[in-house]
Amino acid sequence: MPADYHTHTPLCRHAEGEPEAYMDAALLAGVTEYGISDHAPQIPEPFDDWRMSVAELPAYFEWIERARLRAGGRIPVRAGLECDWLNGCEDWIADLAGTHEWDYLIGAVHYLGDWDFDNPVWLGRWVKSDVDAVWKHYWETYAKMADSGLFDILAHPDLVKKFSYVPSGDLDRFYEPVIDAIAGSGSVIEINTAGWYKPCGEAYSTPRFLELACSAGIGLVISSDAHAPGEVGRDFARAIELAKAAGYRETVLFEKRQRRVEMLV
Ligand code: ZN
Ligand code: FE
Ligand code: FE
Repeated sequence: MPADYHTHTPLCRHAEGEPEAYMDAALLAGVTEYGISDHAPQIPEPFDDWRMSVAELPAYFEWIERARLRAGGRIPVRAGLECDWLNGCEDWIADLAGTHEWDYLIGAVHYLGDWDFDNPVWLGRWVKSDVDAVWKHYWETYAKMADSGLFDILAHPDLVKKFSYVPSGDLDRFYEPVIDAIAGSGSVIEINTAGWYKPCGEAYSTPRFLELACSAGIGLVISSDAHAPGEVGRDFARAIELAKAAGYRETVLFEKRQRRVEMLV
């Protein structure tokens, strides 16, 4: 099984479980490495209600240490963050990068302007939106995040489909420019299996996007985005099939922001 690098902790206020339980689940799932990447603090505080605060960073490092202790050297435990890509966030991301010896940083687009569009609380805003315009805004934002070169991994590439608001016609018009940006950045993307449990009923990203990404030489990781111990490594066998169907033969491993590859078996 590949590594599972995209997982959360209760510090983000919408995940549950102790580090020992997450670790036991990782060992049971047989992932080669376990990585913790909770929602990063964002300034100015308070920013929203679904992330840790700056003051909670020490508690986060303690949480990671407890996971390491439980692992007892059986598998590596990596430290990361899922950082929000926001207008003008570059300096803040650079600050965060310097707070710890991270193994990787994940970049994610959850916000379009002031709208965290993947938050079910604001579903009403989707109903009133021009889906084509939202998709255009989303993918342009995603490409800018890739261009920044600040992140090792780019999260859930087509999260914008979460609530099944998808434009009609060939979606390559959205995918192609962003594939170029990601390939140019050297960042890797993830297959995020949580999408199978959302209204869209599809992993992030779609097979077509993965096929284009593989052809462009973009690296891949497989992630559960676990917010509870039972979700660690969830549906990885299915994700491996999806990756192979797109042409992938390997996934990427990270340690202190350096990478190597592991064959997909
Ligand atoms: Zn979350
Ligand atoms: Fe996310
Ligand atoms: Fe996440």
